[in-house]
Amino acid sequence: MTRKKERGQLIVLSGPSGVGKSTVIAELLGQRDNIYFSVSYTTRQPRVGEQNGVNYNFVSREEFERMIAADELLEFAEYVHNYYGTSLKLIQEKLSAGIDVLLDIEVQGAAKVRERCPDALFIFIIPPSFEELSRRLHRRNTDSEDVIAGRLEKARQEFREIPKYDYLVINDKVSNAVEEIAAILTAAECRVPNRSHMLAQFA
Ligand code: 5GP
Repeated sequence: MTRKKERGQLIVLSGPSGVGKSTVIAELLGQRDNIYFSVSYTTRQPRVGEQNGVNYNFVSREEFERMIAADELLEFAEYVHNYYGTSLKLIQEKLSAGIDVLLDIEVQGAAKVRERCPDALFIFIIPPSFEELSRRLHRRNTDSEDVIAGRLEKARQEFREIPKYDYLVINDKVSNAVEEIAAILTAAECRVPNRSHMLAQFA
C-alpha cells in the first residue's frame, strides 16, 4: 500500500548538546523511509569525523551573514558563539513532495519555527539525568572544559523551554528513544488530515 502523503510533516527535534541526538537521528533515518534530515549550516569548526554536507554545511561567518541578509534561512540562532541555521529552499521542496523533514535545532530556532510553521511537530529529547549529560559531553572528548561548561549552562536554559514542546523523549538508551520518536511519527501520520487522500473512495 502506498503511504505517500500530499505534504510532508515538518518535525523539530531539540535537546541539549551531548544528549545523543545525532546517534538517535542516524538510527531513525535508517529505519524509516520518506524522511529527510535537513543538514544545517553552521560557522562552527567540524569535529573529528564530521563531514561537510553530511553532518553540517560548514561555512564562514561572512557566508552565513550573506544567507541571513538574502533571507535564505527558515530560522537561525547563535549558540555558544557560532551561528546555526536551516536553509528554507530545500525543506520546502521536500515537504511539497510529500516527504517528512527532520530538523535538529536548538530552542531559539525552534521558537522561530513555531511561529512560522505552527503545524510542525515539536519533540524535545532529554538525557536520563543532568549528571549523565555531563558524563556524555566529557566522554565525547572533542570540546575543551570551557566549551563543555558553556554547553551545560546552555542545557539548563534549554530545559526551561520544554513545556513549549509537544513531546518529551528520554534517551536512556538509543533504541528506546528511537522507538518513542517512531511512535510519535506514526501517530502523526495516522491523523485524519494526513489521510484525506484515502477518503474519497469511502464517500
Ligand atoms: P552542535 O555544535 O553540538 O552540533 O550543535 C549545537 C546545537 O545547535 C544543538 O542543540 C543543535 O540542535 C543546534 N543546531 C544544529 N543545527 C541548527 C540549526 O540549523 N538551527 C538552530 N537554531 N540550531 C541548530
